[in-house]
This record gives sequence, C-alpha cells and structure tokens, in this order.
Amino acid sequence: MTKLDGFSAAELFERENGYAYNDFIILPGYIDFAPEDVNLESNLTRNIRIKSPMVSSPMDTVTESKMAIGLALMGGVGIIHYNNTVQEQADQVKKVKRYENGFINEPMVLSPSNIIADIDRIKENYGFSGIPITENGKLESKLLGIVTNRDFDFETDRGKKLSEVMTTDLLTAKVGISLVEANNILKTSKKGKLPIVDNEGRLVALMCRNDLLKNREYPLASKGARKQLLVGAAISTKDEARERLEALVAAGVDLVVIDSAQGNSVYQVEMIKYIKKKYPQIDIIGGNIVTEEQAENLIRAGVDALRIGMGPGSICTTQMTMSVGRAQATAIFKTARYSRKYQVPVIADGGIATIGHISKAMALGASSVMMGSMFAGTAEAPGDYFYENGVRLKKYRGMASQEAMEAGGSKRYFAEDAKIKVAQGVSGSVVDKGSLFDYVPYLIQGIRHSFQDMGARDVKTLHEYLYSGKLRFELRSLSAQIEGGVHDMYSYKEPKYM
Ligand code: IMP
Repeated sequence: MTKLDGFSAAELFERENGYAYNDFIILPGYIDFAPEDVNLESNLTRNIRIKSPMVSSPMDTVTESKMAIGLALMGGVGIIHYNNTVQEQADQVKKVKRYENGFINEPMVLSPSNIIADIDRIKENYGFSGIPITENGKLESKLLGIVTNRDFDFETDRGKKLSEVMTTDLLTAKVGISLVEANNILKTSKKGKLPIVDNEGRLVALMCRNDLLKNREYPLASKGARKQLLVGAAISTKDEARERLEALVAAGVDLVVIDSAQGNSVYQVEMIKYIKKKYPQIDIIGGNIVTEEQAENLIRAGVDALRIGMGPGSICTTQMTMSVGRAQATAIFKTARYSRKYQVPVIADGGIATIGHISKAMALGASSVMMGSMFAGTAEAPGDYFYENGVRLKKYRGMASQEAMEAGGSKRYFAEDAKIKVAQGVSGSVVDKGSLFDYVPYLIQGIRHSFQDMGARDVKTLHEYLYSGKLRFELRSLSAQIEGGVHDMYSYKEPKYM
C-alpha cells in the first residue's frame, strides 16, 4: 500500500497547538468482529484491573457510597470525596466494602414511639412502607417488630403509636446467611420482608421480596481478593491526610487518589513516599498532571497511576484564573506515552461530555476515564432532584467553587489556610440522567461500537495501534466540527444520552 492516510498521533501532537477532544477525529479501521466481542478491561492502576474503564470523580456532588457501589457493580470504580469528616468518609468506604448484592444495608428504621403518620411520610417520599422497628429507631439496635401496609391501612387515627400496630411475630435470618439461602426463605415464607439480625437480635440489614425479582447478576463487577467491591477515596497532601488515611485503610479502602489540581509538588512527592512506606498494599493515583516532567517526578516517587487534566473540567475555571494547564487531548497523549515506559496507567480526568470523548481519551493512551458531570445527574449521585423551568435537575459543583470551599473543599488547591480563597470552579446543576444502572450499560455499549469502528478489539490492541502509528488521526477545521454535529434541522430531539 502507499503512504497511510491521515496522521499518527505522534505527528499530530508534535505541532505547536494544544488540542482538545473536539479538535480531532479518528479515521476508521477494519472491522472483523462484533461490538459484543470488544473487551474493555484495562489497568486502572499498576495492580488493579477493571472491566469498565470508568471512574467517578471525588466530588461531593458525585461520589458517595451509592455511586461507588453502583459503578463498582458495573465494572468501574468510585472515588469517595473528602469534603467531610474523617469518620464520614471512612463510613462511606465501609458501606461499599460491606455491600452485598440483594441485602439492604441501610434500611429505613423507626422506633415503637413513632406514629403511623411517620410511615405515611416515608411512603410519600420514598415509595415504600415496610419498616422494621427497633428499640431506638436505628440500625444495629434490638429488632422489636415490623410494620407493613396491612398493619395500618384501615386505621383512621394516624397519630397512633407504631408499638400498637406493629407485627411482633417475626421471621428473621442470621447475619452471614448467603443471598441464595435468604432468597429461599423469602420465597417459601411468602413474607414481604426478611430482617437480618446478629446474635444479639440487633437489626443489621433487610431483604425485600420486591427486590428478589429485580436482583440481577453483575458479571463485570470490580471486586478485590475478598470478593468485596473495590472502592477508592481521595485525600489531600496536608498533614490531616495521614489521620484520614489511617481511618480509610482500617475501613478497607483499596486505592487512594491524592487530590491536587497541580500535582507536581514537594507535598505530593512526600505523601506518596509516606503512603508507600506505611501502606504498601494501597495503590496510589497521583496527580493531577499534564506534562511529562510532572509525570516523571510522581512516577519516581512511586505512584501506581496518574490522573491527567488541568483545566478541562466542566465546572472548572482554573485555566481562566491561573493561566496554567493544558488542552486535554495533548495532555493525555504526552503523559500516557511517557508513563507507559514505566507501566504506569493514566486516567483521563475532566472534560468528558460524550461517549466519543471516552473513546478518544483511550485512543490517545488513557487506560480509563474519570468523570464528574457525566455522573452527577444520575439517581446514585448525592443530593435530591429539583425542578427549574420544568426541567428535572441535580446540583453539581466544582470542589474549588466558592460554595464547596466554604463547605471545606479547598484542600485540593493549597488554599485551605488562605484568608482569601480564590475560586477555580463554579456551582450549578446538570440534567437528570436516570439510574446509573441504565446509563452505564449504554455508555459501555457505545464505547464498544467506537472500538469496533477503530478496528480494535481491546484496549491493549488500541494502544498498540496508537503507538505503532496504525491508528490514524486528523485535525478538524471549525467547519468540519460543525459538519460533524447536528445541523440544518428546524428542530430535533436529542437522544437521552450522548
Ligand atoms: P467533568 O467530568 O468535566 O465534570 O470534570 C470533573 C473533574 O474536574 C474532576 O474529576 C476534577 O479533576 C476537576 N474538578 C473538580 N472540581 C473542580 C474545580 O472546582 N475546579 C477545577 N476543576 C475541578
């Protein structure tokens, strides 16, 4: 064949400009397999492999235990944010590590002195009404009874105490029971709820008949050696992080992200060395970085993965305020090519707005992507939905926004002790995306199609094509970008997900 069409990534990124995802396009390869044959398994860190290359950002409007559980079940990993107390963050980690498919580890609980109206309120807000009753109205307290619809639906006095209506003849199961055994009890007993108790009769979890039907398998789930879900947590480079780290390790955290906007610092280097010495079993994701020189320092200090991105985040004003950063596509290509020599995977962090951006990041050498805004609108992100102009929204804010910093999120920006805190992010809202359990499979299937178009069956092959020059790229002029989007329509409906 004559000269290959297009350009290799090395040729493209040697130019003087820095490029963003939208500035280039990937030329098609040869298809000889189906999207279902594509294997997206890749290294999140040196030692941890995941089946879906997606990580949720450590942000207080993105990742707490619900997000981390959902994402880990579908093959990714969530990084619990640290805009909270040490205890709160460690508790979030514990919830993920304790999670067992099918068991509700945090059921709604009431006490005998609550009244029927309290159940009415729960039903209205959450849609369920089978509530276990414990001595003090909390989990891990002695189980006294259970109240279901049938116990009070004809009762006209909604002020009546639950102690007067609850069922005390209980069928329970002991903690440690397997999912299969518990499911069998529910099936044969015909009961709606099965409380799980410890040896002292204290409530530790609940199983619901309704969930039985919904329980599904998660073949992609990210699990560690003890078959528990994998979870990460973010820490700062401050002294406080040492105490945090101790609690996180005790809670069972698998990896930590050292969260700095500019990671090439003496503070981070020292923190990496400290962690490696004290907790050699914990993988460290260092960053954020965008240049080879930055990568070199952190790799030398001992990181197990690098987080790439300075300024591309949807909520980010760093490049405007600090004038320091780099266009994301260039940052990924340069750092990934460098880090590969040391088998240190890179995570493309920030600026992902479509499925195509995920594939582009991976085509430039990233082994996984970290996303904030893509996940912030899902049901599993912290916070409640609200309406604005008839649109269902969820709050999303940068960790260096004025608002988040006031709530304690300035550790990432060396600004914690500063009297005047300069914001590097904004706060706002994103549109409802529904449940992660519908959204992530859609993203995965989209990425598989994209891999098929590029002609690569798996991540390793894609990266081989990238570095051998087989994968071809081209810059897009402004009009090419317009042409590549939707145009010349009077009106149209966007797909639910992009
Ligand atoms: P997104 O996926 O484009 O929404 O970007 C999320 C990423 O933005 C996070 O993973 C962080 O790296 C980064 N980030 C989070 N908060 C801030 C901020 O306040 N300013 C700048 N960048 C931020």
